[in-house]
Amino acid sequence: MTRPNSPKATRRKFVAAVASVGIGGCGRSAKPLTTRERAPEGESVSALLKPIALVRSAGQKHWVGDGFHVSTIFSPRQLDAQVLSPFILMDHAAPRHFPGAAKPRGVREHPHRGFETVTFAYQGEVDHRDSHGGGGTIGAGDVQWMTAASGVVHEEMQSKRFTQAGGVFEMVQLWVNLPARLKMTTPRYQELKGQTFPRLEFGKASGRLIAGTLQGKSGPAKTHSPITLFDMDLPKGSSASFELPVGRTILVFVLGGQVVSQSARSLKSGDLAVLDRSKPGGVQLSAKANARVLVLSGEPLGEPVVAQGPFVMNTRAEIAQAMQDYRDGRMGTLAPTT
Ligand code: MN
Repeated sequence: MTRPNSPKATRRKFVAAVASVGIGGCGRSAKPLTTRERAPEGESVSALLKPIALVRSAGQKHWVGDGFHVSTIFSPRQLDAQVLSPFILMDHAAPRHFPGAAKPRGVREHPHRGFETVTFAYQGEVDHRDSHGGGGTIGAGDVQWMTAASGVVHEEMQSKRFTQAGGVFEMVQLWVNLPARLKMTTPRYQELKGQTFPRLEFGKASGRLIAGTLQGKSGPAKTHSPITLFDMDLPKGSSASFELPVGRTILVFVLGGQVVSQSARSLKSGDLAVLDRSKPGGVQLSAKANARVLVLSGEPLGEPVVAQGPFVMNTRAEIAQAMQDYRDGRMGTLAPTT
């Protein structure tokens, strides 16, 4: 008989859970973009301001494992996957105090295939290890970029040190889609230390460039499609402007505080603004209170998105295959913890 905690039993239970509650898919493919002109990526920001397509507020919180108390900021269940592309899902674990404890807290062994998980640690520490040999600890200001691609099994825990000491924990996890031709490529793990991020300047506000190019600088993250990611600190009364190429998806998320965007739209902590990517123009934010903002931008992939639980593929058949491959142990296994 199989022991209840054997990897096989864990995988079987997990696949059954995914099959029943998996996140919904979206089979439509995007209309090809017609506007291909490029806006400058330098300092100059045109006077023209890009319209905001929609604003969403953070919803109910839920637990992911026992270490991450998150609001899902966007997912294909809530917004058209083509509007979000190349981004799939984002969870925000807003600042929360955890008491010191002996028992590890987090999300235990589970698989992913077809995309990348990007974890931003703002407060506290996250330990990660995966079946492809990736692993490490990220602390405040660091980012972990895991390319699941053809498949990994991993666990994401609050670090042992943080669990024991307790403290305030704040984190973002973003899922970045892979183009169809790269979904079955080799997994990869990038540990990006905060001090390696080039500084961005926006007058009295400042930023950290994690991926892509802006203000003539390049972020350290290696990406599989054109992506620009940065976060910003805006002291009360400051303003920041930036411009990205027309046709790129641009999502502005308020991590904390309050800003006013173009068109005098007020955005508070937990709000997400989706810019109209078909229109040219810059983005302008003014801080009403000290604010922290995360900006996600990327070239839409324009491919069908079928998302189910921890797998994001292009067709339902590929999702079924992913489940079968995980069940059969073809995404690898984690060594038992000592
Ligand atoms: Mn995961």
